[in-house]
Amino acid sequence: MTNPIYIDQKEILKRLKQPDKHTHKGIQGHALIIGGSYGKIGAVSLSSKAALKTGCGLVTVFIPKCGYDILQISIPEVMVLTDNQEKSISNITFDITPQAIGIGPGLGQAVETQNALHQFLKTNKTPLVIDADALNILSQNKEWFSLVPPKTILTPHPKELERLIGKWHFEEEKMNKAISFSKQHEIIIVMKGAPTQIIDGKTFYENTTGNAALATAGTGDVLTGMITSLLAQAYEPISAAILGVYLHGLTADIALPETGYQSFIASDVIANIGKAFL
Ligand code: AMP
Ligand code: MG
Repeated sequence: MTNPIYIDQKEILKRLKQPDKHTHKGIQGHALIIGGSYGKIGAVSLSSKAALKTGCGLVTVFIPKCGYDILQISIPEVMVLTDNQEKSISNITFDITPQAIGIGPGLGQAVETQNALHQFLKTNKTPLVIDADALNILSQNKEWFSLVPPKTILTPHPKELERLIGKWHFEEEKMNKAISFSKQHEIIIVMKGAPTQIIDGKTFYENTTGNAALATAGTGDVLTGMITSLLAQAYEPISAAILGVYLHGLTADIALPETGYQSFIASDVIANIGKAFL
């Protein structure tokens, strides 16, 4: 196993683009977040708000009907498209042209949602971030990975990674399995944890920010929104993954003196994205 490339400030400054004073929202990137189910609409709220706070110009969500009022009231900056079904997504169709799509937060695994994901993957050509239940559904239908665009970013936590690549007994075995999965499907795997590691074919990166305060509900959904936002802003997928993971961890390092480990929550990640950029 080769040594990792450490994701530190130097690595970030190499990749981070400077804001263009002539830009406008129409060319600053449009991110679409697809997810949510009854009782898990909060995951999409977190993810879409994080996408906005990470700099893309427009954010739309595609959610089941039950989330419509919640999203419109809680985040006025986000545009909302709904499925025909009340409690879970059953048919992913939309007439917008986002530059990146994040799919999975709060999605659930209803049978109709699994079918909707399969149909969506058959026609989708937009750069993709796949997380949470979208990953879990794909893990049960690995042949669908042939439908996923090259350089798609997967963001599994350890349990989701195990469903994806199978059990491992030691670190090197995990790495080898992740590398071969990444090569086979031409995808980027963000292996979330402490620390988060990123595999892009045979290149292996390790993050240097973040702390145990992140071990709390919804932080993964926030990361998905951040990476999707960067992808929508035309960052190369590997740069979007690296920048997203680094900035996400940095928010927890910045907030820790104020929140301590105990009271840090996913909304604190979002609240500190600005400081992390600065
Ligand atoms: P999820 O499990 O999908 O909500 O994602 C959790 C997020 O928090 C990932 O970005 C993890 O890397 C991060 N995280 C969880 N626990 C820790 C920890 N002990 N130290 C650093 N980061 C963590
Ligand atoms: Mg998660």
